[in-house]
Amino acid sequence: MNQLFTEALPVIAALEEAGYEAYFVGGSVRDSLTGRLINDVDIATSATPHEVKAIFQQTVDVGIAHGTILVLHKTGKYEVTTFRTESGYSDFRRPDEVNFVRSLKEDLQRRDFTMNAIAMDRKGNVIDPFYGKEAIQKKEIVTVGNPNERFTEDGLRMMRALRFVSQLRFELNPDTYASLKKHVHLMEHISVERILVEFEKLLLGVDRKKSLELVVNSSLYYYLPGFKAYKSQLAKVRAYGIEQLKEEEEMWGFLLVLLDIDDIESFLRNWKMPMKNIRFIQSVVRLVKQEPNFLQDKFLLFREGEKAAVSAASVRAVLEHTNVENAINTVKEVYTNLMIKSMSELALTGHDLLAFASDRKPGPWVKEAMDGAVQAVLTGQVANDKAAIKEWLNTCNLM
Ligand code: ATP
Ligand code: MG
Repeated sequence: MNQLFTEALPVIAALEEAGYEAYFVGGSVRDSLTGRLINDVDIATSATPHEVKAIFQQTVDVGIAHGTILVLHKTGKYEVTTFRTESGYSDFRRPDEVNFVRSLKEDLQRRDFTMNAIAMDRKGNVIDPFYGKEAIQKKEIVTVGNPNERFTEDGLRMMRALRFVSQLRFELNPDTYASLKKHVHLMEHISVERILVEFEKLLLGVDRKKSLELVVNSSLYYYLPGFKAYKSQLAKVRAYGIEQLKEEEEMWGFLLVLLDIDDIESFLRNWKMPMKNIRFIQSVVRLVKQEPNFLQDKFLLFREGEKAAVSAASVRAVLEHTNVENAINTVKEVYTNLMIKSMSELALTGHDLLAFASDRKPGPWVKEAMDGAVQAVLTGQVANDKAAIKEWLNTCNLM
């Protein structure tokens, strides 16, 4: 048993000692059976949320209405979710009602795919009423029960199916895929936030190329914010070595360049992406598109930072079918040799500048002078020394 499971055994034991059932469920069980690395374990139990809270000293109500309590234990944090069924998906997404039940099988039955509907007890025995292990052996993604019903209940499951294609390199079961194509329009009802989570996992999976092909062929792309008009561009993705990109921001950068999106901020705001990520992706795309020789422009490298430059070099290498490793190494080398890497490393501060030019009021000239000094130091025109910079600024009439 994986160490993450053994560390969580006391939590399962405590629930059992109190007279309840408790099992490992979900992605961790699936991934341990496929030999993938697991990063967190989820626990399902017959105890109701209030019963769970009564057993453990430290808990957080993270999703009590849906039955999830976060248990803080010596070895980690564990999401403990009460066995539940869901009913009445009148809006094709969230269930109208969540019912807590005492039967594990009922809980497994409401899960999306058979590979995700396997439970494991504390001895490592697997409870698998829907033949999830068989599906894993066949590398097949198949819904628990009738795919038409399961996709109609919650359209996000179609997006999840394609992200598992990408992450696990599994095939879609033919009936599951046929149903997906038929119901893909139900994605319209799904919130962008939920789509984004799945899409970003899809973008980084080992088989992202195949998965993105299915996104196009199934017409699911049509329901992804901003992608509607770009079928032919998306179909071109398969010509590029995108699996070499390691960060989701790089995948976004690549797609935005490929689709030739001008207003990146609006595009990504429609995806409800955090502003910090949007700004970073903008830097990457700017470097890729507008600055053909950004490696020769030390000031640009200084301004955008190493991370954006590494990402931009990677994206460009993929677009130009050149070696990504080499591109990254070149950026890192140039960056290592930069005389200064941040404003705080400049020997002269804004404070010094204002003290030297005591007759001048603070204004835009300060930024201009500081940028000038940075450029001069970076290009070796002047040493990174306070007196030398002062003299240089004087000769250039910058202060
Ligand atoms: P990951 O390893 O990426 O976390 P996961 O399978 O654990 O993958 P989660 O989103 O963490 O995915 O969901 C945990 C489990 O909850 C799933 O394995 C599945 O059993 C169930 N589940 C999640 N989302 C849905 C859904 N939309 N419909 C039905 N069951 C779902
Ligand atoms: Mg999970």
